[in-house]
Amino acid sequence: MKVIVIGAGVGGLAAAIRLAAAGHQVEVLERNPNVGGKLATLKEGGYSFELGPTLLTLPHIFDELFKLAGTTLADEVELVRLDPQIRYRWPNGSTLEVPDDPAALPSALDVFSPGSGVQWTRFAEHAAKLWELSERTFLAGPMGSPLALLSRMRSPLDLGRIDGNRTLAKSAEAHFDDPRLHQLVGRYATYSGSSPFRTPATLACIPHIEQAFGCWYVMGGLGRLGDALERVAIRIGVTIRVGVDVGRIAFDGRKVTGVELADGGSESADLVVSNVDAAHLYTDLLPHPKQAKKLDRAGRSTSAFVICAAVRGRTEGIAHHNLFFSLHDRQEFRYLEAGQMAIDPTVYACVSSVTDPGQAPRDGENWYMLVNAPPAVGLDRKLMTAAVLNRLAERGFDIRTRIDFTRTLAPADFEARYRAVGGAIYGTSSNGRKAAFARPNNVGPVDGLYLVGGSTHPGGGLPMVAISARIVADLVAERHG
Ligand SMILES: Cc1cc2nc3c(=O)[nH]c(=O)nc-3n(C[C@H](O)[C@H](O)[C@H](O)COP(=O)(O)OP(=O)(O)OC[C@H]3O[C@@H](n4cnc5c(N)ncnc54)[C@H](O)[C@@H]3O)c2cc1C
Repeated sequence: MKVIVIGAGVGGLAAAIRLAAAGHQVEVLERNPNVGGKLATLKEGGYSFELGPTLLTLPHIFDELFKLAGTTLADEVELVRLDPQIRYRWPNGSTLEVPDDPAALPSALDVFSPGSGVQWTRFAEHAAKLWELSERTFLAGPMGSPLALLSRMRSPLDLGRIDGNRTLAKSAEAHFDDPRLHQLVGRYATYSGSSPFRTPATLACIPHIEQAFGCWYVMGGLGRLGDALERVAIRIGVTIRVGVDVGRIAFDGRKVTGVELADGGSESADLVVSNVDAAHLYTDLLPHPKQAKKLDRAGRSTSAFVICAAVRGRTEGIAHHNLFFSLHDRQEFRYLEAGQMAIDPTVYACVSSVTDPGQAPRDGENWYMLVNAPPAVGLDRKLMTAAVLNRLAERGFDIRTRIDFTRTLAPADFEARYRAVGGAIYGTSSNGRKAAFARPNNVGPVDGLYLVGGSTHPGGGLPMVAISARIVADLVAERHG
């Protein structure tokens, strides 16, 4: 069958590889001049910066994908398993370094907060069960309705075990006495652009993922993963055309027939796989008021304000991944939900030159700082940059006088670059018990249309979008042979 994939994000490329491996004739159309979508990088003045993802989890999902094309992830990129995984810092000066070895974490926690080691062990057991259950139910197929999820459960008890009725914040409070650990666990809600005070406690499986499978870096920068996906896709016969803006999905009233391009051209196809933000899909490419309304009701995920700073010299005490927590997490998320930047935001700082000196000139560092931002918020870049740098200086990391240049990305940039409506990074948010069902289905409302990527099921993040590609390829195999 002839398949057109709209968008060469990670989900689009992964779907293209799977469908080509299954024998289909696949063409990917990408409007930007390069592939990778949000997995983007910037090289300037001898510095390399990620502009999107900085952390790779569950690399075996990409390995499984590459094996379908006769190669492996390790053959295509050089992976590093980070140890320590991250260094957390709180406003009161306390720090916690998370080791890669899960057996070493409880004793590190006991030093940090006596008694929390055993609490972590219990939490980790709970998180491991959540992951096992999520993998064989939530991630194992599409989510058209609650029934689809139920059909993949071994017993109705699984419904309770998935811990979807309480919030992640409540789960953290139930497991830990120390409020700093509530903040640590709550931060995982932001991996899906959500609030710990509203997202289901099922997301507690993410710390398990990091502990059990590691936190990974790709030497040369995560963009190398995008290059590898492109290379492997081409090798297996996928045609990739960049600079091609799709204006409409064509259908004959019953099924898709191809796409119409913004420049007036057209391409026919038996199947169309959309890797674009579902809000762009259902508003512009295939206007569908019912789907668009559903998306509106679900609410957008958070966006981000990212600062890339070219820094001279070396910074004592900085790790590859660093998190500087705010004083009041509840207040921080209240601001975000109200559509405003938090006054005291948690700051994430990634300095990959710690692991990969080639990412900065000799005696330099490539700082990437990110604060969560509500979607569609307008912000003053200079003021925000100064606020973030001042905050880090107050916390003992004053890089202000050593910066050669900064580049920033605001929600408007994420919207302009990727057509991610409002600049929301993960499509709809995972806030609320029904969020997983509000996310657009992988099967479109028109015969022959499928959705892949971060705005459809199972959600955003590199491994999740690769899983969405697996779900789409399985659906195509089931329905079209
Ligand atoms: C700042 C930031 C930090 C992140 N950090 C992490 C992290 O550390 N770890 C992690 O795992 N994930 C992270 N993510 C999330 C991850 O990057 C995304 O979930 C993932 O890359 C999204 O892939 P996707 O398949 O949804 O496609 P996207 O990246 O959304 O790409 C969609 C593509 O479609 C193209 N397109 C849109 N409309 C059209 C059209 N009409 N015609 C043709 N092409 C079109 C776009 O140009 C784009 O290239 C981060 C994201 C951001 C932005």
